[in-house]
Amino acid sequence: GLLVVGDVVTDVVARHDEPLAPHTDTAARIAVLPGGAGANVACWAARYGAGVRLLARVGADSAEWHRAALLTAGVEPVLRVDDALPTAVVVALVDAAAERTLVTDSGAAFRLGPGDWDEALLDGGARGIGRIHLSGYLYFSAPGRTLAATVRKAAAVRGIPASVDPASAGFLRRLGPGAFLDAVQGLDLLLPNAAEAALLSGHDEPAAAAASLSARCGGATVVVTLGAAGAVAAERGAVVATAMAPHTAAVDTTGAGDAFTGGLLAARLAGAGLAEALAAGCRAGAEAVTVVGGRPRLRDPAHPGAAHES
Ligand code: ADP
Repeated sequence: GLLVVGDVVTDVVARHDEPLAPHTDTAARIAVLPGGAGANVACWAARYGAGVRLLARVGADSAEWHRAALLTAGVEPVLRVDDALPTAVVVALVDAAAERTLVTDSGAAFRLGPGDWDEALLDGGARGIGRIHLSGYLYFSAPGRTLAATVRKAAAVRGIPASVDPASAGFLRRLGPGAFLDAVQGLDLLLPNAAEAALLSGHDEPAAAAASLSARCGGATVVVTLGAAGAVAAERGAVVATAMAPHTAAVDTTGAGDAFTGGLLAARLAGAGLAEALAAGCRAGAEAVTVVGGRPRLRDPAHPGAAHES
């Protein structure tokens, strides 16, 4: 199975047609959805057949709601409930041109730390944990960085491959690209999007960025996602595979990268080679852009194959 260590977030998405202005009350269609990069990756990997466990920290305000949503998505939640802070919340203000403004409260998510770790998280399931995925958000808090190092050590002892998704160009800029790259040394697989890869490598061209990052990270596999153009992978400093994204009518690109990661990791766990896993990631990403929010559409157990909006 797959162990994801990362963030659970409550996404509040407010779609408004009128421009926002101070001292006015603007009507909006507001949806409250379960999200978070780590949790979304976990849900997409489960949707593509992996056995998935998620370690995350939430507030008492919404712990049960998040637990239920993860269970429904087929993920085994290991949620540490914070006694002081609420679950992380991201408010997305989406205007008539689909332009997004994000307002973030990292809440309990940034307190996930070494005290939340337990070696037993690597046990269980038919064959135990075969892969670990670290959400990039871990690296943007001090306890998260310590936890990531602890998990990495435990994985290395058992020979379990580990991956990371940098998750946010904004946070990367604040932490410093060099500090991030130093912290992720020794991981087997990095999954930046094109903007993050450019920031981390100094190369605007994605294939060059992937190759350079792979060399910088000790030969690790680096997969750069390219939105509607698909993805490119490099190993030991050279491009080794590319994949095209299926042509899709995009409705909401939130979570495309998380879906790509979940689909790719599920395929790798099932024994797929890199090229095959890239294609699986692209299929998952294409599915994600047809869904509002960052998680897979829920399947209706009464009508297998049919789906309804969550
Ligand atoms: P992020 O969401 O992290 O910014 P990308 O935008 O690169 O990442 O998207 C991740 C993956 O999702 C892409 O590699 C691609 O497979 C898929 N994807 C994204 N946008 C589209 C789209 N418009 N049509 C089809 N697939 C898409």
